[in-house]
Amino acid sequence: MKEKQFKHKQAWVKTFFHARGFKCTPQRLAVLSVLKNSPKHLSISEIHSRVREFLPKVGLATIYRTLETLEELGLVVKVHLEDGCHSYTVVSREHGHPMVCVRCNRVFEFRECPIDRMSKRLSRKTGFAIETHFLQFLGKCQDCKR
Ligand SMILES: [Zn+2]
Ligand SMILES: [Zn+2]
Repeated sequence: MKEKQFKHKQAWVKTFFHARGFKCTPQRLAVLSVLKNSPKHLSISEIHSRVREFLPKVGLATIYRTLETLEELGLVVKVHLEDGCHSYTVVSREHGHPMVCVRCNRVFEFRECPIDRMSKRLSRKTGFAIETHFLQFLGKCQDCKR
């Protein structure tokens, strides 16, 4: 991956981080970039080895922390797999949810959120202050279902 391209593609990220009081570190940019450039969801060790291609000294603990932060910011979501493991993928800033193919591991995103309205209704009804929700679909993509 070329450095220039990498920076250009991440231009909005800096503003995004700063607006939320987070620093735009090379590690955060690298993890985001690796996930964005992968059509498939990636495990922590896959992310680690890819990030090390351009940040050779980064440790696994940093990858863990970075993923936590990116998850908190809503840029990355955990993909829960059938075997109880999980991996990671990016979602768009406008609140997306992943559709995950269990055969080829590719992730497709859908933007509409049926939960939003439901959680507002639930909040009103129960007085519970709902802050977030998780939603993902597992299945076979068009290529794999044949
Ligand atoms: Zn597939
Ligand atoms: Zn949602």
